[in-house]
Amino acid sequence: MLERFMRANVSRWQGVYDRFPSPARSALASARGLFLAQMRYAPETFSILKILRAHERWSMEEIVAHQMNALRETIGSARRNVPHYANYSRGELRTFGDLRRWPVLERETVRQNHEQFLSSGTPVRRRIRAGTTGTTGGNLRVAFTEELARANWACLLRQWAWAGVAAQQPRVTLFGARVVPAECTEAPYWVYNLPERQILMSIFHLAEKTAPAYLAFLHKQEGKILEGFPSVLGILADFASNRRESFPMRTIFTSGEPLYPASRAKIESAFQCKVFDSYGMTEYCGLIHECAHGQMHLVPEFGFLEILDAGDEPVAEGEEGFFVWTGFLNRAMPLIRYRIGDRGRWLHGSACGCGLLFPLVIPTITRESEILRCPDGRLFSPRALNQLLKDATSLRFCQFVHDRPERVMVRAVSANARAHGEMMQIRTRLQDLLGPMMRVTAEIASEPLVRPGGKIPLIINTGNNLGGRREVADGVKLDEPRNRNDAFDKENGMESTQEMNRVQQ
Ligand SMILES: [Zn+2]
Repeated sequence: MLERFMRANVSRWQGVYDRFPSPARSALASARGLFLAQMRYAPETFSILKILRAHERWSMEEIVAHQMNALRETIGSARRNVPHYANYSRGELRTFGDLRRWPVLERETVRQNHEQFLSSGTPVRRRIRAGTTGTTGGNLRVAFTEELARANWACLLRQWAWAGVAAQQPRVTLFGARVVPAECTEAPYWVYNLPERQILMSIFHLAEKTAPAYLAFLHKQEGKILEGFPSVLGILADFASNRRESFPMRTIFTSGEPLYPASRAKIESAFQCKVFDSYGMTEYCGLIHECAHGQMHLVPEFGFLEILDAGDEPVAEGEEGFFVWTGFLNRAMPLIRYRIGDRGRWLHGSACGCGLLFPLVIPTITRESEILRCPDGRLFSPRALNQLLKDATSLRFCQFVHDRPERVMVRAVSANARAHGEMMQIRTRLQDLLGPMMRVTAEIASEPLVRPGGKIPLIINTGNNLGGRREVADGVKLDEPRNRNDAFDKENGMESTQEMNRVQQ
């Protein structure tokens, strides 16, 4: 119940929170942490974890049987309780191929008909609402329950176990929580959440100027777990390698963005431990976890994955296609054959050295993560700026164009008449975040800026002249996406993990 209330009033709380001095902010973070810890480390979580760990011995037949049963239950319950599925044909599910009797569900359909996907089987008072904004600004509203958050946490603890880490070990977190006010110019850029033995560091204050404070503090945290967005940990790793320093941590967990090999190598080198990556989303319909042998395993208890081509046919082995998920656990808002927009391919025929028979998947998300570099040395990861889009519901796309050293333009593509107002709100928030050194402008555009290949970056550096940092300038052109929804969904699918991270924080 408290979580529902907190989430519904998050922007109001933020204003109050920001006015407190640093020790009081830690007290508030700990108060919320106490509630989250009670939810996360309830006896039920450990019961689920025990079951999950026993599943690690599953044979292929057992995995198939579990997924088949879960599909039948999910579809049966959705037909009975969820308006959108009321007309789905009855039909028996004997093989996975029988799933194709039901249509592939596009993200835009869910976005526009959100209420139609809510289950009458979940009482309104138990629904926790969240929004997944997407780096392109299109908001999808999602509902889930505390039970689901707990099951999700149990899955996360299983990945911790794969890394040899027990629950509630001390950790340093760099996800999207705004734990320090934007205008703050002095350390500490972090708060303590004591019940969880967690330190939440701000991702909004990374700069050449603040790097020594961040690094000095990280030195004191050596040996702890580090978790965060890959682009943010990449910035910290750069700080460290520029100074020829390293910060041995225990293990690193990343999520919320693609983790590229170069970025992984840089992070593992700076923090001298292995990274365990994961792929998930706020819609809670699928999960992929990296094991100790560096392979990405589908979490078979969480959802069923199809990888389909543009014509909705299964891809051939090794070929890339669209992820289409049927989630087993989110009964508050079940999604059946949901094309989230991300892509990937199966890795068949090779057993993983870790011994798990959970299917191997390679997410092949290729979005580049650009970083906004201010002339005064401050660095903003895409995930930091993405937080500004959280409440936007009227934009099809929203991008940040860094076109002059001291200017950033908010460039929005509207979905409806409220778009201009929302865009101006984003502009104000960005101006607050960047401060008076930067000028923020805004404009409504008819189409997003698209790179060759159809990628729609959140941050685009076009005209700034910051010591040869024009990485993206040449690649950007105004172009009609080949398939607007594809591009739109792809970005949003990427984004969605971040909301899960918010639950995790
Ligand atoms: Zn493995």
